[in-house]
Amino acid sequence: MTQPAVDGAKDWSAIDRAVYVHSSTNLQQHLVDGPMVLTRGEGVRVFDGDGKAYIEAMSGLWCAGLGFSEKRLADAAYKQMTTLPYYHNFQGKTADVTIELAERLVALAPKPLTKIMFASSGSEANDTAIKLVWYYNNARGKPAKKKIISREQAYHGVTIAAGSLTRLKAIYDGFDLPIDRIRHVGCPHHYKLAQDGESEEQFATRLADELDAKIREEGPDTVAAFIAEPIMGAGGVIVPPATYFEKIQRVLKTHDVLLICDEVITGFGRIGTMFGAEKFGIAPDIMTLGKQMTSAYAPMSAILMRESIFESIAAESGKRGTFGHGYTYSGHPVSAAVALETLRIYEERDILGHVNRITPTFQSLLESYSNHPLVGEVRGEGLLAAVQLVQSKSPKKFFDTTAGLAKYLVARGHEHGVILRVLQNDAVAFAPPLISTEDDLKQIADLFGRALDDTLKVARERGLV
Ligand code: PMP
Repeated sequence: MTQPAVDGAKDWSAIDRAVYVHSSTNLQQHLVDGPMVLTRGEGVRVFDGDGKAYIEAMSGLWCAGLGFSEKRLADAAYKQMTTLPYYHNFQGKTADVTIELAERLVALAPKPLTKIMFASSGSEANDTAIKLVWYYNNARGKPAKKKIISREQAYHGVTIAAGSLTRLKAIYDGFDLPIDRIRHVGCPHHYKLAQDGESEEQFATRLADELDAKIREEGPDTVAAFIAEPIMGAGGVIVPPATYFEKIQRVLKTHDVLLICDEVITGFGRIGTMFGAEKFGIAPDIMTLGKQMTSAYAPMSAILMRESIFESIAAESGKRGTFGHGYTYSGHPVSAAVALETLRIYEERDILGHVNRITPTFQSLLESYSNHPLVGEVRGEGLLAAVQLVQSKSPKKFFDTTAGLAKYLVARGHEHGVILRVLQNDAVAFAPPLISTEDDLKQIADLFGRALDDTLKVARERGLV
């Protein structure tokens, strides 16, 4: 992966290793391996310094929905930068373009959500959601009702509070997380966690019962909210079992516990509906958005809430004198202009219709690997999917992840020219740009297949299968 410097060019690999601390990377190993340096993007492809093309089957980090060369987004940013490049939203001020975006997003969002705030990242959005919930329960005279429940394998970000909601070991382990007031319940992965013969519906009932028991054990007067991604992303692309959200929402209602829907990945058409909430019949009290809202061309996230939550916090801020939350870059006008243009493009090009038209091809291309000796499960919705590697299908046996087979597969994928992502427990993730054509998807599946065969060969050589 290390690319030698060409004449006259800087040796990015050497400089990187000398000074740059990467995210979500084995920092020790990185000093040996060096970076993968991308220098250019075009459509659904990115290119390294040697001009080698990679088809981006992950849209970066599930975010570059419109690919890597959408000129209209660059023009929108330029226009805003040369009109009003920055303004904040403290003390009643704002840029006009940010109000326009707020109106547009509230119109798009699921019905009960009527008010919106902005931040720059998904982590900030989820931190903000937690603070909103705490402020809200103080406002309505329930100061003890503060615990937030998330699920094993959830990913909600990495800041101190959001990183406490995230239940992936690498994110909390070694960082002294989770913080107090955060609790966790089971992951809704039927393939991995259902008991013998347990149907999806029965599994969903068991998970809802577990949540109910957890709330009762903690004391309903101490539990404020439950947070969930409609489909878990980084935790494995876990599609919930049938009836899951219906049953979970019933439990939450019983105990007056709010539902925060984290749509940072599932928002804006990724799974064939504008939001995952639509697909799964979720009526959120709070919803967080990010990533594809700007197609990742500028950082921006959002937090939507119900009118009743806004009314309470507005009244409380009246008493206290101010609602003391927000960031320098909340509602940044350049990001807002890029988001508006992104939403226009999604609409004009009927991206949602396109995603739905190509989904059957995408899912069946991946499904065709179900018979491969290493593949235990192919799961997903829309243009979001994962292929689960297993050591044995029957009896079901997962690999010891220290064997690093999915990691090896992803590295082979890079060699073949496709960028994939390894998730925990030896799953391989796919989230191709929303603009992908059927030919792009065929190429992704083909290159993945080659990497899968390489992996099988190595697994056999090492006596793992
Ligand atoms: N929520 C979900 C569902 C995510 O997938 C992510 C990022 N992958 C986040 C929150 C955090 O977003 P960010 O990295 O922008 O802080």
